[in-house]
Amino acid sequence: MTTVDRPLPELPAEEHEHFELDPATTIDRARATNPVIQGLFTGLLGTQTSPWLIVVVRFEDDPRPVHIPGVDPLAHHRKLFTATGAGTMNMVRYFRDMSHGKLNTGGSVVVGPFTIGYDRAAYVGNSAPGPGQIDRGGVLAAGRAAATAHQIDLSSYAGIVVCGYELLDLCGWVGGMAALCDSHSLVPSLLGQEMGHGYGLDHSRVDTSTEDYQDPWDTMSTANAYSASDPDYGSIGPGLNAWNMRMRGWLNEGRVVRIDPMQPAHREIELGPLHDAGPAAAAIDVGEYLIEFRMADRWDAGIPRSAVLVHRAEANRSYLMAGSDGSHDLVAGARFEHQQFFGPSFTATVESIDEATRRARIRIDQTVRRPRVPQAGVQWPPPISDPGPVEIVDPRVAQLQELVGRYRQALAVSDRYGAPQLLLRALGELAEEVGRQAADTEVTTFHEGYSFEPKSVIAEPAPG
Ligand SMILES: [Zn+2]
Repeated sequence: MTTVDRPLPELPAEEHEHFELDPATTIDRARATNPVIQGLFTGLLGTQTSPWLIVVVRFEDDPRPVHIPGVDPLAHHRKLFTATGAGTMNMVRYFRDMSHGKLNTGGSVVVGPFTIGYDRAAYVGNSAPGPGQIDRGGVLAAGRAAATAHQIDLSSYAGIVVCGYELLDLCGWVGGMAALCDSHSLVPSLLGQEMGHGYGLDHSRVDTSTEDYQDPWDTMSTANAYSASDPDYGSIGPGLNAWNMRMRGWLNEGRVVRIDPMQPAHREIELGPLHDAGPAAAAIDVGEYLIEFRMADRWDAGIPRSAVLVHRAEANRSYLMAGSDGSHDLVAGARFEHQQFFGPSFTATVESIDEATRRARIRIDQTVRRPRVPQAGVQWPPPISDPGPVEIVDPRVAQLQELVGRYRQALAVSDRYGAPQLLLRALGELAEEVGRQAADTEVTTFHEGYSFEPKSVIAEPAPG
């Protein structure tokens, strides 16, 4: 139970499951530095351990690996897939960055090379296998069996990559936590997609088309994408777009600025690069779109220029949108417009992109057109150009409403974790911010001078 007399609005279960708050963002926005509140948020930032087993295999008639005493033939594999490669742009770092720190694949293990009981000629790839032949699924099963035969417990791993010591194949099972690769595809640009398939990611597209691999700013369109060269692994990136991150529960929703679709809005929002760890806002959620800023460095070092991207999502796929001038990567001065007759219409304008400070400034202007009812003094029927009864909300009020939304999430979590004192302190922070903005004065003695302790706790109704 809580010590407030009215129940807080319940968050839907899925929001609880993926709940994340970036303490710095939330606290900065409230201009408060209460360590208790900050600690509450920090304590809730969980990571999911997701180790993969990489089984390196060879066909019976493949040349035997040359064994040089003291040299690990799979050293490169270990660097690429496991914590051994810390400090490089390897797969552990990729999934950490693409999940805003949520996914930890650092426990991945490389084993092999194991020999599977088939000759190379028996492999038919993506075709139907005849007698004595194996297809992709067959090689995956053979890799699993080889690992089990070597006393490896497959159940300790979240996923499996069967990797040909020589040439094999490249594919991933969507939602299946399984992939095939080989000596020619030990590349984060490609493995990000194949292992990403395992978590449920599908190929990305561009708006107005149903062709796959059409978003060159996204991992799920490699190798038709803006990859960058890398000294360790050859080719890295690009990273995932914000919708692909969100669809996997990886986007830090505490760093998403939401524009209420029911209210007019005129806001300037500063975004940091999507895959940075924070504290800047990572995306803007407006209409059905997510707006993100991509800096031309790290995973995105191969993109043509630092730019703002807009995506929508449909049926587990992201779709890249074009700006008003037809280009997909928006730079300063470019706009994305979404107009509809009723409901919210908005324009997103890129005001500036500053690579030195790693920030993009975006202006959102949203109008909400409501059906007009006949009234005296207004032409009826209204002309097509009539915006309807549009109400303009003071931007300070809009900002405050967003703050209230953030705190409502935080409060629901502190309530769920049974921390009434923290909940009261959070309410105090919020009330203080409301006081500041409403009175436009700095309140400095708020906590000391005002008690949120309830005068009496409402008694539970007696049974019967
Ligand atoms: Zn694919």
